Amino acid sequence: MNYETVIGLEVHVELLTKSKMFCGCNNEFSTESNKHCCPVCLGMPGALPVLNKGVVEYAVKASLALNCEVAEFSKFDRKIYFYPDMPSAYQISQYEIPLARNGHIDVETADGHIRPIGVHTLHMEEDAGKLIHEEGKPYSQVDLDRAGVPLVEIVSEPDIRSADEASQYLNNLKTLLQYAEVSDCKMEEGSLRCDLNISIRPEGSSEFGTKVEVKNLGSFRVVRRAIEYEEKRQKEILESGGKVVQETRRWDEQRGKTVHMRGKVDNRYSPEYNLPPVILTQEWIEEIRQSLPELPHQRKKRYIEQFGLPSYDAEVITSSKELSNFYEECVEHYHDPKTVSNWVMVELMGLLNETGKEIEDVIFKPKQLANMLSMIDKGTISGKIAKDVFKEMFDTGKDPDDIVKEKGLIQISDEQELEEIARDAIQQNPQSVEDYKNGKKKALGFLVGQVMKATKGKANPQMANKILKDLLDK
Ligand SMILES: [Zn+2]
Repeated sequence: MNYETVIGLEVHVELLTKSKMFCGCNNEFSTESNKHCCPVCLGMPGALPVLNKGVVEYAVKASLALNCEVAEFSKFDRKIYFYPDMPSAYQISQYEIPLARNGHIDVETADGHIRPIGVHTLHMEEDAGKLIHEEGKPYSQVDLDRAGVPLVEIVSEPDIRSADEASQYLNNLKTLLQYAEVSDCKMEEGSLRCDLNISIRPEGSSEFGTKVEVKNLGSFRVVRRAIEYEEKRQKEILESGGKVVQETRRWDEQRGKTVHMRGKVDNRYSPEYNLPPVILTQEWIEEIRQSLPELPHQRKKRYIEQFGLPSYDAEVITSSKELSNFYEECVEHYHDPKTVSNWVMVELMGLLNETGKEIEDVIFKPKQLANMLSMIDKGTISGKIAKDVFKEMFDTGKDPDDIVKEKGLIQISDEQELEEIARDAIQQNPQSVEDYKNGKKKALGFLVGQVMKATKGKANPQMANKILKDLLDK
């Protein structure tokens, strides 16, 4: 029997506000422990939370970027929660009336159609602290720097049908929030975390199967693996006549599988009576909408109109804000947007792929790439040598000028010098000369190749071509 996978994702995203959600503590990521704490985020009895207006503004921005309707009235609730990383024994969240709902994020299906994945709700909540378990120690330590850090939780509709769609949803979500400048979405620092709800059902069925929750997936790669593992596991259970048990599982990286964590728990909530409801005016929501930075689809449209880029190039480059910023800075210094896009998409993205680096890790500046492109135009280096120069720039961050000087890569455009090398090539390859004279025009290409080889790629290829042709046609 064929099965259909039904996936919903819950994504927690830390907001980049200066201070925490309900106190004035610093909200920057730190590698030390318990550096940014006060009685409020430590949950001391009697300490009262005061809502940071910046958090609401960022959360509204996030909601608008995800095409949500923002509620004029929402309120906070307490999620009752007994665990040492939450000293007040409840997490302030929004349960009954969330800040926003009914959004969507588009993905492209396997057959090339654009399909909106519904965003059910977006709500604000505070983050918990972190527990640190050191191997072999009879105790655990608690770090409360993260306690009270503002989060938005984005809950999708169960609209996702494959690991591929889930990856796209997450990538697009991350891109939108980075463009909106509300979060850095750094998964390695925990500022974007993901829970997965997954069930399978016979193809064509409209009823949902029993869903399993997989908690705390630390990277998009792990989300994909957990989905693929669960699809297989649940299918095997159903095909052997068993029933999927509703439970919470977690990803075991070492064993490459999901494992049982706990049974189904119903969270208990109570009203948060220390905080008033959040009441927003349409004017303020509109003001925030106007203040939103350019979003990916807007930027893509601009690249097509302003730079004349093909839609494909515009899509690839705007899929990451960092990459797109890099591209634009380069175009500021080198006014041929399509040439820049070719270099960014082929050479730069190729090297990033090869080295497993991110655009943030690139050590040379966009202006250096622009300078290198000008050097090709001026004939200082050939397009072929430029690829080596580019690789060196990527590895060392050195100026293209310096690389060319140090390595003696300046293009040979001296006619006399090239003619000598061309004569040698002709002399050493009588067969090719004969082929050429017999009408095999391809033989010319071979001879040009010999000149390039003799000059270690430094000959000006157009000139070499012309000189050889002149000599042969004599
Ligand atoms: Zn605090």
